[in-house]
Amino acid sequence: FADVDPVTGLLDPQAVSELINDRTRIIVPVDYTGQPADYHAMRTVIGDRPIALIADAAHSMGATDNGRPVGTLADLTTLSFHPVKPITSGEGGAIVCSNDAWDTHMRAFRSHGIARATATENQTEPWRQEMTLLGFNYRITDIQCALGKSQLGRLHEYIARRGEIACKYFGGLRDIDSIALPGLRENTTSGWHLFTIRTLRDTAHRQALFHKLRSLGVGVQVHYEPVHHHPYYQSLGYPKDRCPNAVDFASRVLSLPIFPAMTNEDVAWVVETVHEAVRALE
Ligand SMILES: *Cc1c(COP(=O)(O)O)cnc(C)c1O
Repeated sequence: FADVDPVTGLLDPQAVSELINDRTRIIVPVDYTGQPADYHAMRTVIGDRPIALIADAAHSMGATDNGRPVGTLADLTTLSFHPVKPITSGEGGAIVCSNDAWDTHMRAFRSHGIARATATENQTEPWRQEMTLLGFNYRITDIQCALGKSQLGRLHEYIARRGEIACKYFGGLRDIDSIALPGLRENTTSGWHLFTIRTLRDTAHRQALFHKLRSLGVGVQVHYEPVHHHPYYQSLGYPKDRCPNAVDFASRVLSLPIFPAMTNEDVAWVVETVHEAVRALE
């Protein structure tokens, strides 16, 4: 695990460069909250080493970096279509890549490693289906795809609305001294999957804000606990103080509601209620 930038929560290219060694095979930045990570800087760090760059774009489908869309920034880009994500197919996801060999491999891998010979490849034995590698069943159903395709047409409408809500939060919350608003990377657009504030006081203040806002009816949440603090990674022996920026960020962060169906009245009410909660805890 490499540490994150303390303001954006995105993987820090410098931290990555300090951890790269001969055993490094892939680097997987997470586009946390919907902002693309700095893939350009990651490529500079990788140089000509045989290391693949995989974007976890579960939050950021539809976002851009210098006008280039998510899906074109890394070697492979993984998307999630879980119901809470930018668009949904009920469950499932997709991987985007521009490398024919990987595309062929993944298409076989998701279907028991079976590559069906096309009629043009084998005209004498067109029935032939060959298992070429050890794969699994990772197929999405046609019914899910039908939902996903109709959702795809609404992606930009959804993101535009999320952006409007984020804008209202920035305007409405900027005068609260004890909280920081999301740190933004220059020349990027965000999918605004999450809108996260950070307390500038301490983790006890975050906890008090969480409970106060919940009691006032605002569905705040914490995204996320640092991955290496989860029991599984703890059982592998990762020290808890590894990645201090991520640990500190996680101790302060709080997500406010953001979803396309929120009305302007909903947003204004959340803004007002955050002010009320902050005042109550002064
Ligand atoms: C939701 C999510 C995932 C997992 O997506 P699945 O569709 O459950 O596989 C991975 N990474 C991030 C950042 C996510 O938000």
